[in-house]
Amino acid sequence: MSDTEPQTDFDPIEPNTGREFEPVDVFPATEEFDLRPGADSCFKCSACDTSCPVAEVDDDFPGPKFQGPEQWRLKRREGHEIDDSVMSCSNCMRCDDACPSGVPLSQMHNTARGEYVEEQMSKTSVEYWRNRVLSNYRTSAFLASKVPRLANVTMNFGPARWLMEKTMGVTAEREFPAFASTTFREWWAERGGADESRRRARAHRERRGLDRDADKRVAYFHGCYSNYNTTEVGKAMVRVYERYGYEVVAPEQKCSGTPMFANGMLADARRHAEVNVSSMADLVEQGYDAIASCTSCSMALRQEYPELFDIDGIETVAANTFESIEYLRIHEDLKADVREARVSGDLAREFAYHAPCHARNQGLERQSVELFGDLEGAGIEDVGDSCSGISGTYGWKEEKYETSMAIGEEMFDHMAAADGEVGMTECPTCAMQMEHGTGYEIRHPLELLEEALVENPRSEP
Ligand code: SF4
Ligand code: SF4
Repeated sequence: MSDTEPQTDFDPIEPNTGREFEPVDVFPATEEFDLRPGADSCFKCSACDTSCPVAEVDDDFPGPKFQGPEQWRLKRREGHEIDDSVMSCSNCMRCDDACPSGVPLSQMHNTARGEYVEEQMSKTSVEYWRNRVLSNYRTSAFLASKVPRLANVTMNFGPARWLMEKTMGVTAEREFPAFASTTFREWWAERGGADESRRRARAHRERRGLDRDADKRVAYFHGCYSNYNTTEVGKAMVRVYERYGYEVVAPEQKCSGTPMFANGMLADARRHAEVNVSSMADLVEQGYDAIASCTSCSMALRQEYPELFDIDGIETVAANTFESIEYLRIHEDLKADVREARVSGDLAREFAYHAPCHARNQGLERQSVELFGDLEGAGIEDVGDSCSGISGTYGWKEEKYETSMAIGEEMFDHMAAADGEVGMTECPTCAMQMEHGTGYEIRHPLELLEEALVENPRSEP
């Protein structure tokens, strides 16, 4: 056995004495999540460090091996302070994917970041409040959605942006995303909610010769961005699923918590997770599956919730959560349907596709390219495996903006070299970065799927 392979054939009997080996407790017992076995699986290959986009452009960032297993061992010692560099990790989770030994790196980072913010960060600092406001985007978006036109003008008004950068540290380099005049949930309610979805799904089943009462039910986790900003993504999700005969419900929900994990706001994230798990667990018990159109939302429900929180029903929700196109690929003959379809109009274009880091973590990085490769009337090209660099709130911080753009440079170059001049991705903040770095319009794969499979999509309410 090489000295880099973990030992698996441990013999508890001491060879010299014949006595059973008694392990020594180096660290005191704890009721918290114990990640020590994960830390001990690290054999220092540094694959995580070489995959880290922040370490690649920022020489001061010590990288995931230090942030994860090394710091975890240190922080179990009484009185050890978390290194503040943990706030420079963007939570892209690429290191999880890179580790050949299954070390739970992002779980370690999230836990350490939560402790750092809770115990070491000043609660009166500008950084703390800036991070809190950014990670509670849902609250700002809710308020802005009450006066969307006014919000769209004032939030991008030059002097206001300058002031926000100087006083709060929110970069003035980026444009705030536009708020929709009608939120997804308002549209959903006006359309008739779950009852109308059931009626439409059943009509589609009858039209396609399927069992009218088939058990096809999904609970849509639309997240904040599809609700307040890109509502067309949420509408496309509903119409595509109904076309396949699925009854959709849109249960009560809060933010998935993704921006809160990245900012160490674990108490906020837990409050939101409790609502989401409670809503989704009830529906899963009734036979629904949970579907998210944002890959960071599905990542949170599937992986981060059970890694970080102990909430009733969390494992059930995690095991029954899927990304929206992934679910249809599993349950329908989506590829064959797309192969027979053709698109025209404003989506008959060449797309430069970027797979978000959180899609990679779920093994979904190739699905859009494989699905749309044979679609008549449109083309799609993968722009490579680099990180977009924005990582949710990360690229919105004034002191992280340059790092974020340096990480994104490879993706911008590949987009410029691709045939298409329209971008495509599943992640709303990757979309912001793609647009910011290239000036391209960015679309979600669900919009192309809707155009390909749903008759007259925009003539429906
Ligand atoms: S989560 Fe991303 S930024 Fe953070 S240490 Fe891992 S690879 Fe680096
Ligand atoms: S990739 Fe895994 S095993 Fe290798 S150094 Fe990083 S944490 Fe350790």
